[in-house]
Amino acid sequence: MTMTEKALILTGAELYTPTYLIAPGAVLIRAGKIMAVGDPDAVIAFDPAAERIDVGRAKIMPGLIDLHIHGLQGFDVLGKYISAASNVLPAYGVTAYLPTTYPVFPETFLDDLALMGKVIRSQSGGAVALGIHLEGPYLSPHKPGMCDPNFIYPMTEEDLEKMLSASQNAIKMITFAPEEGDSLKMIPELIRRGIVPSIGHSDADFETVSKAVRFGLNHSTHTFNAMSGLHHRSPGVVGGVLYFPEIVAQIIADGHHVHPAVINLLIRVKGVERVCLVSDAQPFAGKENGRYPWGPYEMIIKDGTSQLADGTIAGSVMLMNRMLGVLVEQVKISLKDAVTMATKVPASVLGLNKGQLRPGFDADITVLDDRYEALLTLVEGKIVHQLV
Ligand SMILES: [Zn+2]
Repeated sequence: MTMTEKALILTGAELYTPTYLIAPGAVLIRAGKIMAVGDPDAVIAFDPAAERIDVGRAKIMPGLIDLHIHGLQGFDVLGKYISAASNVLPAYGVTAYLPTTYPVFPETFLDDLALMGKVIRSQSGGAVALGIHLEGPYLSPHKPGMCDPNFIYPMTEEDLEKMLSASQNAIKMITFAPEEGDSLKMIPELIRRGIVPSIGHSDADFETVSKAVRFGLNHSTHTFNAMSGLHHRSPGVVGGVLYFPEIVAQIIADGHHVHPAVINLLIRVKGVERVCLVSDAQPFAGKENGRYPWGPYEMIIKDGTSQLADGTIAGSVMLMNRMLGVLVEQVKISLKDAVTMATKVPASVLGLNKGQLRPGFDADITVLDDRYEALLTLVEGKIVHQLV
């Protein structure tokens, strides 16, 4: 062991690994990695010369990982604003994310993907953009959500190939309707290329979901929103997501998209390790009430929601740190379980060495106060946000 590398110890009243809650707890960081976790005396004894930061009553946890986010603070991540978004996300405790697309003009979409791929490959600083989440155009015209049906069309092998090569293989997740086009038979190919196939914006019946799971489907996009619902004689996509343990279910916990009781039911049915918190934040999350242009759409932000003129809910305006508060206060689960859904689960979906405070894992860490505000955020051991 070399003691010349600068090491840092964070100590605080509560530390969520998140498999364990250690209170009080400490974590030792060196060369961008977690070196040791435990009670403060044991961790300090491990490296007494390390610099120390005591966060007091605040909570230490892995950095939040958002697999579904369209932007924030006016930065639309479909295009050139990924770096700008990466720089502001740590203020919300987010250390890694998938910049997410939405259906826009097909004529310019390949250029958008090329630009996103380029920015992702050359990023420096802030939260890590892990790759692109393609939400659209391969959606069901019957479940468009906020999306203009004119920009939606079925997946074909040829079209998918164009998207992947335009992005230079930066696409890591695709939301699609398996009942449309060639998408069902493309699932094994997505898996082979390391892309997470996610059912969403889908009107499929249970039998189609069942086939898709046998082909490798293992994820669902904003569960309950924009998918065929559960009827006792027709279980639909929601029934399939609940039924198949292979599927990890995204959930938007902003208190508006899904009733807290239904989120609680989802967690009880699937288990906390199979539910993945996502923000689905739209690019004007974090801005004041008002009307904002989002690509071809006009968004109205009011009363904690984002809507089209006809009242359709269109993305959220809340980031994941605040959603932890909704999970604890409204859904009535423990903070430990809420943190698991925001860190360990999304990291495991993408197979990352992140999302847990365990020796050898990347030192992506966030410290939240009692109001779920991020006081301190580290990405790979570097402080990227500090309020105190
Ligand atoms: Zn979305």
